[in-house]
Amino acid sequence: MDLDVREIFPEAIKNEEFLVYYQPKVSLRNYSLAGAEALVRWKHGDKFIFPDQFIPVFEQGSEICELDFYMLEHVCRDIRRWIDEGRRVIKVSVNISRKHLAEDPQLLEHLMERIDKYDVPHEYLEIELTETSTEVGFEELKNIIDGLHQNDIHTSVDDFGIGYSSMNLIRELPWDVLKIDKSFLPKSASDGKQYVMFKHLISLAKDIGLDCIVEGVETIEHVKMLKENQCFLAQGYYFDRPLPVSEFETRM
Ligand code: C2E
Ligand code: CA
Ligand code: CA
Repeated sequence: MDLDVREIFPEAIKNEEFLVYYQPKVSLRNYSLAGAEALVRWKHGDKFIFPDQFIPVFEQGSEICELDFYMLEHVCRDIRRWIDEGRRVIKVSVNISRKHLAEDPQLLEHLMERIDKYDVPHEYLEIELTETSTEVGFEELKNIIDGLHQNDIHTSVDDFGIGYSSMNLIRELPWDVLKIDKSFLPKSASDGKQYVMFKHLISLAKDIGLDCIVEGVETIEHVKMLKENQCFLAQGYYFDRPLPVSEFETRM
């Protein structure tokens, strides 16, 4: 891309060019709305810029931290409004880059400040820790996951199975949800090694007491495979794309 996204970031965030889109998470028990993930979209002029074109770049600097807090604050504002409007509110997960852990020793306080500013009941939020950086120490990660847990805010391991998510991190920290990455979804039950790993990832999550959700669910075959393996939470295009807030409110 020819835009220098880091250069135009300060102006863009000031002008609120970043929008929160909500992608529903669906219960496969009764196909009800079980939650949502907040995903950033950048509306620059009349064009949309997608996260893969700027998140990795922002993670090289400190822009990602500013953007994640902006997203968290906008989500809290929406939840506050939904509560005040008397809607049935569901849990929304917000992505927080691990980059924060390296940059901000007071991350927990900074997250809680934003949440409490809007007086959002903690049960309506979940933090998805995305992983992109190796530079984060175990202690920093442990402090933040423990701290959120003590504040009754759920946490999920995003993209489980790829990158740097190690078994050690799963064993040692009080996570609530394991999110299985779409790259682990088999095409069908005859998809050899892929299917065996998928099946065991789900049972690992469940057997250690974590909720399990699979992302990238695109077909009815995917849905069947989840149900056959007793995983009852799904997110993906088969159900919904990430929706602008007004459409999500209709869906709610
Ligand atoms: P992610 O956290 O793994 O989010 C899921 C991505 O999968 C989203 O891409 C979503 O639109 C896409 N997706 C959902 N359902 C399907 C499906 O059925 N099939 C396929 N092929 N894809 C599906 P998106 O919105 O482009 O975001 C890409 C990544 O950018 C996210 O991956 C996340 O790592 C990052 N990201 C997005 N918003 C934020 C944010 O506010 N903060 C941070 N730190 N990272 C963010
Ligand atoms: Ca995520
Ligand atoms: Ca993911």
